[in-house]
Amino acid sequence: MRFSLFPKGIGIDLGTANTLIGLEGSDDILLNEPSVVAIETKTGKVKAVGHEAKVMLGKTPNDIKTVRPMRDGVISDFQNVEKMIRYFINRVSPKRSIFKPNIVVGIPSDITEVERRAVEESCIQAGAKKVYLIEESLAAAIGANIDITEPVGNMIIDIGGGTTEISIISLSGMVISKSIRIGGDEIDQQIIRHIKDSKNLVIGETTAENIKVNFFDIWNYREKINFEIKGRDNVTGLPKSININKQELKEGVIEVIDKIVDQVKDVLDSCPPELASDIIIRGIVLTGGGAILKGIREYISNETKVPVIIAEDPLYSVVKGTVRYFNYTKN
Ligand code: ADP
Ligand code: MG
Repeated sequence: MRFSLFPKGIGIDLGTANTLIGLEGSDDILLNEPSVVAIETKTGKVKAVGHEAKVMLGKTPNDIKTVRPMRDGVISDFQNVEKMIRYFINRVSPKRSIFKPNIVVGIPSDITEVERRAVEESCIQAGAKKVYLIEESLAAAIGANIDITEPVGNMIIDIGGGTTEISIISLSGMVISKSIRIGGDEIDQQIIRHIKDSKNLVIGETTAENIKVNFFDIWNYREKINFEIKGRDNVTGLPKSININKQELKEGVIEVIDKIVDQVKDVLDSCPPELASDIIIRGIVLTGGGAILKGIREYISNETKVPVIIAEDPLYSVVKGTVRYFNYTKN
């Protein structure tokens, strides 16, 4: 008889943009897919999940809709979150396994009791034996190789798609934690708005995200780089392509980053002095997809006058932390 691949547990980073699953005892990622579900509108049946569903975003006929059930960081859409979690867990589970894995799930710190139970229940339904919920920031810190048990202040900013979590951690606990409903998606929305208002060009979310990822640098926006964008003319309704330079997009994007920076300053302000001095020495650690935005490290550091470090593989910090968390649950 073949033994299950799961004598161990799995860790899940249930993000607003991406869901990742890792295996206890390793840094291997078993699954990394967009948190997107495509649904048949008439029957409510799931048509596709993850990558397959993401390519359908904005391109679906009337009888299919694509949803991002974790979008706002809170679970806006229980049923689809549950379907998504079950689908992903099944994807990584060996067939005909008799073992039920223990599961650690990273969740936003401001999630409600009802939402916590929904996540737990979905994991149980999908075959979990035991479910541990851990605050995302704590997982992010563990995944960023911070020893959270030390009596030392560490500040973590995790910038995801729909949310940003700003936390100060010491002695395995959250000293201060702030979750805001702003993240990388808001930057995409600003880009969409700006291009529509100034160029009369309507673009989709995927195009906006590509602009952000490939052309934007919030620290070095002075150089004039022109790039081409394709979309639909807002007046004629016809396909159109225009040239834009990245300076033009600067204001909208900085507006979003400034909202995050304001909260970071607030958290630093209310930080106990002993911990604040640790943070100045150690620097603020950035995790999440938003940490990869070009220039964000320099920008936040300049605004706060505190050194900022980007975690290694910031998109994987939370999932790595969830699998390493098993070590803590055994003590
Ligand atoms: P979540 O935890 O909410 O699922 P992630 O940590 O996976 O979010 O980050 C997703 C966000 O990071 C998205 O808004 C995405 O556009 C953004 N992102 C990913 N890669 C980059 C990049 N290279 N530059 C800027 N933003 C990026
Ligand atoms: Mg995240």
